[in-house]
Amino acid sequence: MATAGDKRDVQAQLQVLRERYSEALPQRLAGLNEYWQQLCRDGWRGALAETLLRELHSLAGGSPTFGYPELGQTARAMEYQLQQWVDQGGLPRREECESFRGRIQSLMHLASIVPVQSGPLPRVQPDPAPVRGERLVYLYSELQAEDLARLIEPLQHFGYLARALPEVQALAEAVDRAPPLVLVCGADTGSADSHLMEWLRRFQAGRAVPVPVIFIARDSSFEARLQAVRVGGYAYLPPPLEISELVERLDGLTAESEQAPYRVLLVDDDVALAQHYALVLEEAGMAVELVHAPEGLLERLEAFRPDLVLMDLYLPTCTGIELARVIRQDRSYVGMPIVFLSTETDVERQLEALYTGGDDFLTKPIGDLHLVSAVRSRARRSRVLDSVVSRDSLTGLLKHTRIKEVLETEIERARRSGRPLAVAMIDLDRFKEVNDTHGHQSGDTVLKSLGRLLRERLRSGDSAGRYGGEEFLAVLPDTDAGGAHKVLDDIRRAFDVIEYDSDTSGQVFRVTLSAGVAVCPDCPDATQLTEAADRALYRAKENGRDRVELAEDQ
Ligand code: GH3
Ligand code: MG
Ligand code: MG
Repeated sequence: MATAGDKRDVQAQLQVLRERYSEALPQRLAGLNEYWQQLCRDGWRGALAETLLRELHSLAGGSPTFGYPELGQTARAMEYQLQQWVDQGGLPRREECESFRGRIQSLMHLASIVPVQSGPLPRVQPDPAPVRGERLVYLYSELQAEDLARLIEPLQHFGYLARALPEVQALAEAVDRAPPLVLVCGADTGSADSHLMEWLRRFQAGRAVPVPVIFIARDSSFEARLQAVRVGGYAYLPPPLEISELVERLDGLTAESEQAPYRVLLVDDDVALAQHYALVLEEAGMAVELVHAPEGLLERLEAFRPDLVLMDLYLPTCTGIELARVIRQDRSYVGMPIVFLSTETDVERQLEALYTGGDDFLTKPIGDLHLVSAVRSRARRSRVLDSVVSRDSLTGLLKHTRIKEVLETEIERARRSGRPLAVAMIDLDRFKEVNDTHGHQSGDTVLKSLGRLLRERLRSGDSAGRYGGEEFLAVLPDTDAGGAHKVLDDIRRAFDVIEYDSDTSGQVFRVTLSAGVAVCPDCPDATQLTEAADRALYRAKENGRDRVELAEDQ
C-alpha cells in the first residue's frame, strides 16, 4: 500500500505535470490564433480546420484536469462552433471570423489566470492490500483444542500457517506480536466464553479494520450470532469443523485481496493528460500502461493483457472507433471491455461507437475520483464476468476451451522467445472407486481441493484448467522438464496427504494423483504437446500411479 512518502511523491509528480501544462499553454494558444488567422486570410482549408478542431478538442478535454475549468468550457463551445463550420465545409462570414478570434483572445486571458489548485488526491478506498508472505491463522479454543490442532497440518497444504492457542492470554500475546489474517474461535459467544468475548471487543475496537473471526459454535440462537457479528464474526459454523469448509471460508476472505491489481491500458495521444490519468489510477492501486500511438496497441495488448482498455475517441492516425474494430477482429479480445473517453459533444460518435464494439463512455474532463471509481467498477465487473464465462464452477480453474486457448498463446510466445514451455496432464487415481465408495459429493470435494491446490501452488504466470471430468491440464511457461517435474511432484505430494471425510461411511480417506509432463524445446503444435503429456500420464498409471512421468525424449 502507498505510504505517506509515496503519496507526497505522487502529488509532486502531478504538480510537475500541471506546471508543464501551464507552461505550454501560451504557445499552444498562440498557435491556435495563428492558424485561425491563416484560415480567415487565405481561405478555408479542410486539413487546417481539422487541426484546429483537434486542438480545441484536446483543450476542452484536458485543461480542466490541469486547473483551467473555464478555459475548458470556452474551448468546448468553440469546438462545437467550429465543427458546424467544418460540416458546412466553408468559411464563416467575416464578422463570425472576428468574433471567433475574440474567443481565442479570451482563451489566452483564461490561460493567464492562476490555475485552480488541485486538492489532495481523492480519498478513494484503495483496493485491499495484497496479503504477503505467510497467511497466518490463529485457532483458539479451550474446549475444542484437540479438534483445532488437528487442522494445522492440512491448512499448511492450502497455504495457511495455523497456530493453535488454547488460552485467551496466549491469544492476546500472539496477536500483539503478529496480527493474523483470520481468527478461528471454537467458542460459544454466550456467557460460556465471556473472557474471550471481552477481549475480542476491546481488541477489535482498537483496530481500524477488524480482524475477521470465524466462530465454531453450538449455540445457533439469534442472540449468539448477533454477539459474534459485534466482535467481527465473519462466519458462524457448527462443530465439528470440516477442513474443506474452513478452507473455503478462508479463501473467500483472501481471494479479493490477493488478486493482482486491475490492469488498465490507456490509449490517448494527449501525453500530459494520459500521464495524469495513469498517476491517479496507479495511486488507487491499479496497474496502468500507456499507448500514445495506435500502431503500438496490438503489441501492448498481448503483452499486458489488460482487464480494460480506456481509449480516447480522437487519435492521430485513426479514430478510437476504428481502433476498437481492429481490437475486436481478434476473437480473444471479444470480451474485453473498451471504455471510450469522449466529450459531451460527441453524442453521435458515441452512438456509432456503441454499435462498433465500445462498451461505455466516460466524459472528459473527468474528475480524479470519478475516473478511479468508474474504471475500477468496470474492471471488477470485467474480471467477474470473465471468471463466470471462462472458469469451471466446481474447481475455479479454467474451462476446457479456455485452457486450450491459453496453451495456444503460450506456444506462440515460447516459439518467439525461444524459452521452454511445459505442460502437465494430471489425472486422479482410481477416482471411480472414490465416487463408488464415498459418494459423488465426497468426489466433488476432492476435485475442488485439487483445484484449490493447483491455484495455490502454481506461479502467477502459470495456468491450470479442468480438461475433463477428473483430468487437469497445467501450462507452465518458461519451465524446463526438470523444473516442471519438480513442481508437479511437489503438488502430488501435497495432494496425497489431504484428508477427506467420507459422505457415506464417515471414515477419513485420501486420494492420489498421476501426472505426465511434456516440454517443447522447439514447440510443436498444441495437439502434439498435449498428446505427449497424455502418453506420459498413461505411463505413470502403468507404472503404479501416484507418480509424475516425463514424456519420452525429454
Ligand atoms: P485411473 O486411476 O486409471 O485414472 O482410474 P479412474 O477411476 O480415476 O478413471 P476413470 O476414467 O475410469 O474414472 C473417472 C471417474 O471420474 C468416473 C467419473 O464418475 C468421475 N468423475 C468425472 N467427473 C466428475 C465430477 O465432476 N464429480 C465426481 N464426483 N466425479 C467425477
Ligand atoms: Mg482417473
Ligand atoms: Mg480419467
